[in-house]
Amino acid sequence: MDEREVRGEGVPQPGVVGQATQDHTRGRRHHCLQHHVDELFAVLLEPVEERLHGDRIVAVVVLHDVRLAPRAATEVAPEDTVKCVHGPLCASQHLAESGDCHHHVVRNPMQNISPNGPIKLAVTVDDPFMWKGADFPPDYSPAGVATSMADAFAEHGVPGVYSFASTLPTDDHPEWLEALDSWVERGHHVGAHTHSHSSLNWGPADPYIDDIDRNMGILEPWIAQAPTRYFRYAFDMWGDEQAKTDAVQLHLARRGYVPAPITTWFYDVQFLVSYIRTLVAGDEEGRAWIRKTFASTAVESLRSQAAAARAVFGRDPVHIALIHGTPVAGDCYGDVLAAYAEHGVEFVTLEEAMADPANQIVAPTVTRFFRNSTQKWAEYAGIDVENTPPQVLHQVREICLIEGMDENAVLGPALVAAAESVGATFVPTDLDWSPEVLQQ
Ligand SMILES: [Zn+2]
Repeated sequence: MDEREVRGEGVPQPGVVGQATQDHTRGRRHHCLQHHVDELFAVLLEPVEERLHGDRIVAVVVLHDVRLAPRAATEVAPEDTVKCVHGPLCASQHLAESGDCHHHVVRNPMQNISPNGPIKLAVTVDDPFMWKGADFPPDYSPAGVATSMADAFAEHGVPGVYSFASTLPTDDHPEWLEALDSWVERGHHVGAHTHSHSSLNWGPADPYIDDIDRNMGILEPWIAQAPTRYFRYAFDMWGDEQAKTDAVQLHLARRGYVPAPITTWFYDVQFLVSYIRTLVAGDEEGRAWIRKTFASTAVESLRSQAAAARAVFGRDPVHIALIHGTPVAGDCYGDVLAAYAEHGVEFVTLEEAMADPANQIVAPTVTRFFRNSTQKWAEYAGIDVENTPPQVLHQVREICLIEGMDENAVLGPALVAAAESVGATFVPTDLDWSPEVLQQ
């Protein structure tokens, strides 16, 4: 067969299978490569068949450089390459400006988090009631956020997630505790996290210990159903003096609780205030940007913190991730889980993570700053944790600015209320993720 006969008008060029299919099927989009191939054959053979009047057709079609199907512009991940039919490779900026331009998104092979194989990760949630002084925006509630998160966990096969609940907000909203019933019914667990969510750094150990007991008393009906009694230090701050840490650790041992560290976080609360602003302003574009950046920041943070842990331990320990029970997490954490899975993450229980000696042995660094266990181990070993806190937080803070709704105005009162509730003094400089908080 003459090759030119096949190359009729509108026949696709190599490498643009998705676009050809779309042109010839009047705008229909398929997300399956097999569809593209089948339809491409149909497109190629139809005119030839007409011309040959029933003669036997032998067609050899060579597809060059077949790519995955196009995705909508908002689904483009930072690691994707975007090809535009209007010109050479276009940048993501073009996506925002181009309206209905037809793109071809080439999904680059996902780079696994670790070169040594899949990373095992236990997901944990903190603060399902948020914090007194930092309320849920309209249309959001602890039960709603918990349901969204449990749905995302079910979709991505995340087992037995512990929710570490500080309980000060339930003084004003006792009915919020019912959200823990459905949480446990969905196969997840509850852990202790102090009542007031003050830092052990901000006052003496004794009132902090009383505050732990108050929290454990309120949560006992749900904690009693968990396979393990876990406690998480508020802010993952284990005390600015070893003697304070020792006093609390002894108390936990007496009460039969195991302290659960965090090995990877991505400063998810720093996305919350901007996200609330986009909700208030109805800024869909800003909200979509935050959603995309939330997931990519989670992956990149895991990548850099896992690299630091690997350098410390000479292997990949089982990791423990933190996410907070906030509206932004309720809406967007499913994307984070999908991105983790695409990068070779396997989800495991906290019990499995805690069986790893890297998580059982307490990092030998006493610090008053906001540092997770990987950061503390890295500091001890003299290893850098790249891009932590992530630089992108500077951009996150600039999204959808509204006067009187910056991070300091929205979250600052909660930090002060937490400290006051145990007679402690909030020390803004401990939370060294945030220049705004530092200026307070
Ligand atoms: Zn917390």
